[in-house]
Amino acid sequence: MKKSISKTDLFNTLVANNDIYEIYNLLSLFNVYMKDNKFVKAYEDKVGVYIHEDLVVIEGSSTTEPIFIPSDVITLKAENVKCLSKDVKTTVGVALLNLILIEKGLNGKAAYINENFSIKTVENREIVPRLLLTDNPLDIEDMYSFDTAVRFLEGLNATLVQPTSLKALLPPPDIAKKKAKIIKEMVEKYGKDCFEDPIYTTELEEQLFAIDREWMKGDPTLDIGSDGKIMNTTRKKLFLMIGQDTAMPGTTPGTVFRSLTDGYGLDPEDVTAIFNGIIAGNYSKGKETQVGGTYAKLLIRVSSGMKVGVDDCGSTEGFITDINKDNAKGFYGRYYMNKAKEPFVFSKEVYDKHGDGYYNFRTKAKCFSPGSEFCKTCSGDIHAEYEFGSGHNLLQLAGDILNASMKAMHANVMSLQYFPLHDNIH
Ligand SMILES: [Zn+2]
Repeated sequence: MKKSISKTDLFNTLVANNDIYEIYNLLSLFNVYMKDNKFVKAYEDKVGVYIHEDLVVIEGSSTTEPIFIPSDVITLKAENVKCLSKDVKTTVGVALLNLILIEKGLNGKAAYINENFSIKTVENREIVPRLLLTDNPLDIEDMYSFDTAVRFLEGLNATLVQPTSLKALLPPPDIAKKKAKIIKEMVEKYGKDCFEDPIYTTELEEQLFAIDREWMKGDPTLDIGSDGKIMNTTRKKLFLMIGQDTAMPGTTPGTVFRSLTDGYGLDPEDVTAIFNGIIAGNYSKGKETQVGGTYAKLLIRVSSGMKVGVDDCGSTEGFITDINKDNAKGFYGRYYMNKAKEPFVFSKEVYDKHGDGYYNFRTKAKCFSPGSEFCKTCSGDIHAEYEFGSGHNLLQLAGDILNASMKAMHANVMSLQYFPLHDNIH
């Protein structure tokens, strides 16, 4: 009788022995067994792996199925993992991402994220706040190993990510008929000129998105291969409607109700703008990229002397921000005002107590400190500790300008948003 092991124990053993970080092992664990594999061996109708040179058979395995799929649920033991404080029930996919990006990449300096997440989540939620910490901050070595970890993940894509599916290649059934029906209903409701107003064109697009999302529901590529960009721009232009495009210089902006698969009949007037919007590396995008670069340079020039000085300038002007579980952490240490305009520090405790909602945050943009100085209350605790950090902060803004100018010329999506007007009039 061969020694056997459960999948959970196997995963934890591989973590403890550092075997989980070998690309060859990972490819073997997530693929169907193939002969001549050095790590996984067939044993009768099951497979086993070598642990300290002993072939140990995996319970519930077979030679025709991969040992693990990313959605398998396991209990990951904290004893072998720095970024975990206690054992956690998780999926193999989430565990692997955490082990590669946080345990190895950030050398265990951030906490385990027990949900489906993207590289951006790690950057926004874990890396950026930690760069400015005074206690155990991330350093250049950590950023270098994080970069290596992200590249390592690329090697796993072909094995772990389903790139496409039949649904992902097809439009939602009867979309042309459904679109015609929605347009007819909207014209009856809002009048025949309604689509000259981008609010109604956007509403139409949102109804079409809903149909497409319903069609893609449950598809293994959704939010992975078919991510936001594919759903909101590629599939939209291909199957739903080309929509509103910022015009190229010298052409008229407008709304194109057809999709690219609607067949012949594009208006020659629209062709330049449509193709400028859908090709990679188009002229306008290249041209617009200059704008962001120029702003970065200008902002460095004007911001190098800025510092955070006095405690509180007494500003009662704020910036209303929609706080939810995805962005709350990024605001810890900032100051928000109550109805009486008194500032309070926003923290995990405050968020846990008051929950989601609109918070009126103090902001450097409305700081009344004279000269090139900002106050600590408008800046927030983290920036207050880092007196000359405002310049770096502004570079983020230059990045945002770059992004906005590129987006205006590239595949972009319009959406309807609620803006609490009364709260923003002072
Ligand atoms: Zn201020």
